[in-house]
Amino acid sequence: MNVENLLGRLDKVRQTGPGRWVARCPAHEDKTPSLSIRETDEGQLLIHCFTGCSASNVIAAVGLEFADLYPERPTALKNPERRPFPASDVLRALSHEIAVVAAAGEFILEGRAFSPDDHARLRLAVERIETGLQLSGGESHGR
Ligand SMILES: [Zn+2]
Repeated sequence: MNVENLLGRLDKVRQTGPGRWVARCPAHEDKTPSLSIRETDEGQLLIHCFTGCSASNVIAAVGLEFADLYPERPTALKNPERRPFPASDVLRALSHEIAVVAAAGEFILEGRAFSPDDHARLRLAVERIETGLQLSGGESHGR
């Protein structure tokens, strides 16, 4: 999903900077725009309601899914034959996938339904984290 798809579902959208917007929060009675939206360099959408609605509530309120927030993107972990990885690449990829798992946990804790796409995205995140752990841990890569 691109950010326009999300912005198109929100009211009173106003751009506040490069990759940053505010809008009315769809998850509560919002008189003044209290929802901030940020698109990261990796294409991940970060959503924050200043009155405390969770990202999963906001997403559900506009009919989107967990997987819509976390586009699949090429990462260093996709090509495990290219070794060794710079530690910074592994950490960046891991932190992205960990964010996916953390958001999934939030959805599950709130009892929201997971679509097949959501399941696939979560499984991909788990696989990438496992790969990252292997790359950063115990195994020596021919040294
Ligand atoms: Zn809200």
